[in-house]
Amino acid sequence: MPDIAAHRWNVSEKACRLHADALVWDNHAGFGPEPSADLEILEAWRDAGVDYLSVNVGYDVIGWQDTVKNIGAFLTWLETHADRFVLVRTADDIPAAKQASKLAIGFDLEGMNALDGEAYMVSLYYRLGVRQMLFAYNLNNLAGGGCHDTDQGLTPFGRRVIEEMNRVGMLVDCSHTGYRTTMEVLEAMQSAGAPAIFSHSNPKALHKHGRNILDEQIRACAATGGVVGINGIGLFLRDRQAGTPALVDCISYVADLVGPQHVGIGLDWTPESLNSITEADPRFWPAHEGYGQGGPMRLADPQQLPQITDALLDRGWREADIRRLLGENFLRVARQVWK
Ligand SMILES: [Zn+2]
Repeated sequence: MPDIAAHRWNVSEKACRLHADALVWDNHAGFGPEPSADLEILEAWRDAGVDYLSVNVGYDVIGWQDTVKNIGAFLTWLETHADRFVLVRTADDIPAAKQASKLAIGFDLEGMNALDGEAYMVSLYYRLGVRQMLFAYNLNNLAGGGCHDTDQGLTPFGRRVIEEMNRVGMLVDCSHTGYRTTMEVLEAMQSAGAPAIFSHSNPKALHKHGRNILDEQIRACAATGGVVGINGIGLFLRDRQAGTPALVDCISYVADLVGPQHVGIGLDWTPESLNSITEADPRFWPAHEGYGQGGPMRLADPQQLPQITDALLDRGWREADIRRLLGENFLRVARQVWK
């Protein structure tokens, strides 16, 4: 357990103790995947009591060669900072890392352009530490439809990739993906008897945005046994300043809809400004979806995670359900899926 007294989380003592003791899982970091990224930034998550973080190593905006280089750079960094960080292989590595006061890291891919049209690339990425992958990053690709595109549905290639992901044990993620494609993916996963997730997506019922998801999608995800991770980007929240109450509203909404065993956290935090990322390519981040528009906006940062614990205690959540939300739900899914 981390040294609680050393933390200045500015929450109640009860919340502090619970948060430090609970397994805390953030299912997506938002900083830009490039070999030059300074991974000292990961200390921000350790400092907030996070035990597992999924780090993005590639998305559809970049080529597969760049993704492989990112993995090489990130692996090297983690290997040379093994006193504080560990790349996970199995789900059991995560409680072990917590015990050793290390932050456990897994990699994720945002979009299947990283496969370069070959399902056999799934196995390669899995061996390199990628533990989850989503279908299409905002725009359509070979595998399926993106959430900011005219959704073409899940393609035969996308179906082939699902089979391969289920075979090797890579978690199937539906964030950033178009509605029709997600419903076809979730149906296929239910038939396969395996859970699928939305790693970082918020309920559309609370804030209408193309990146957010309908109740129907949340229900279909829960029906597979999966988890919806709540996102901390102001653009996808009722509150552009990403205050903790807006995040807790999303958490409570999903818990009320499908049960507290199907909600988690995928904060998507980066210290960079979102505009500096999104204005680089307006095809992926169209202005009509609000990217780069509407004045100041912030992203919820990892220091708000202990505040979420505190706020849920205030709202009368049972400790057992808070522990599920903070990490046990995603751990359950990882135990089922990762091999
Ligand atoms: Zn994302």
